[in-house]
Amino acid sequence: MRLDDLNCIRCGLCLAVCPTYREILSETASPRGRAALARKGLEGELELSPNLFEQMYACFDCLACNDICPVGIRPADLAVEMRAVQEQLRPAAWKKTLFGGLIPKPRRMEFATLPLRLYEKLGLRRLVYALGLRNLLPRQLRDMESMLPHLPQRPLRQALPEITEANGKTRYRVGFFLGCAQSLLFAEESAATLRVLARNGCTVVTPKATVCCGMPALGYGRSDLAQEQARHNIELFERAQVEVNVTDCATCGSTLKDYGHLLADDNKWAARAAAFSSRVRDVSEFLMSIPLEKPQGRVEARVTYHDPCHLRRGQGVWQQPRALLQMIDGLEFVELPEADWCCGSAGSQLITHYETSLKVLKRKTDNLASTQADYIASGCPGCQMQLNLGVRRQGLDVQVVHPIALLDRAYRQESEVSRLRRNQEISHSTAKRKNDG
Ligand code: SF4
Ligand code: SF4
Repeated sequence: MRLDDLNCIRCGLCLAVCPTYREILSETASPRGRAALARKGLEGELELSPNLFEQMYACFDCLACNDICPVGIRPADLAVEMRAVQEQLRPAAWKKTLFGGLIPKPRRMEFATLPLRLYEKLGLRRLVYALGLRNLLPRQLRDMESMLPHLPQRPLRQALPEITEANGKTRYRVGFFLGCAQSLLFAEESAATLRVLARNGCTVVTPKATVCCGMPALGYGRSDLAQEQARHNIELFERAQVEVNVTDCATCGSTLKDYGHLLADDNKWAARAAAFSSRVRDVSEFLMSIPLEKPQGRVEARVTYHDPCHLRRGQGVWQQPRALLQMIDGLEFVELPEADWCCGSAGSQLITHYETSLKVLKRKTDNLASTQADYIASGCPGCQMQLNLGVRRQGLDVQVVHPIALLDRAYRQESEVSRLRRNQEISHSTAKRKNDG
């Protein structure tokens, strides 16, 4: 990090877009404050104390300040870089264990999350709700339970074939990066992604040995571990010999697109990482770049859309998911006020900065309530879980879905539509025969 790059002109533009500043109203919780703390800390004017680093961890990494700063300070990146500085000064052993030994090991993660799947599979969850036992949990734990979607019986990684053939002729050979949360928590949505890709002429290769994209390690200052994960994933996708690397997770997508930058100083890997990143696409981005077949089925629902920060600002993808939803007949699209305002998830903020996370979420769900939507779509598992919680806390009758799940539903309705049409044609011709007779 170059200190010359930290010449903040104190214009205050970033204060208006920062979710933590808007809730806490303290300079140290703002992008400008964090930039000042970083500069003074690195110049030796302030002690690099745990309190200083705490302000860096209190950033939600929503990237809004990066976009608005007129002199290119990029306070969001700075907060993450400062976490890495802390790791160099005082490495925490638990981070190596968590981000190096558990999260990037798919089998261990599947084992660690088994109790959650059993909780759903054995009907315990239904029982806990029916008997009101949830209310006995401490508030934060109860909220964490509310975030959980309906959990799959088994991780998608185990259920998926390595190759999913295109329906009909192969037009594209696509690599699918199955994210950890998608496999463990949102398996049905990623299964929908594969159906939609196959429906549109893609033969999809899903390398089973992929590991975490690296975002959790990066977010906790361990870029060295994220680099190891990146090298592993790049090698796998090179072997798959695909034209494009698709993901349906906004966080994974923004990290995979950044592998070129992450490994830029590694002579052996820089070019390979840049080539890999250049082929990464969010699923909505990819689908809207090909001649996508309009679904013949309908989804009769009022739908709004929340922009994941790491999709809209991290990847510049915001028109494509909206366009994709608006292709569906029967679907009434309604724009969410402040759709690109952070939802308060930011990975683990509900655990580490509970009160602020809830306040940021409340702003989102107030906006959601004003739309009177039946569904809120969003292509990020973290946002979806946070929105699940918001909907339950506010008692809204809204379902949280991935946009691709609605598109998949419209495709799957096609067979129903053609069955009805066939029945109609048969009854018309029977009636005509009777009349003629
Ligand atoms: S990334 Fe978001 S939360 Fe963090 S300082 Fe910038 S605007 Fe605030
Ligand atoms: S927008 Fe940039 S220059 Fe303006 S106060 Fe914020 S960090 Fe400083």
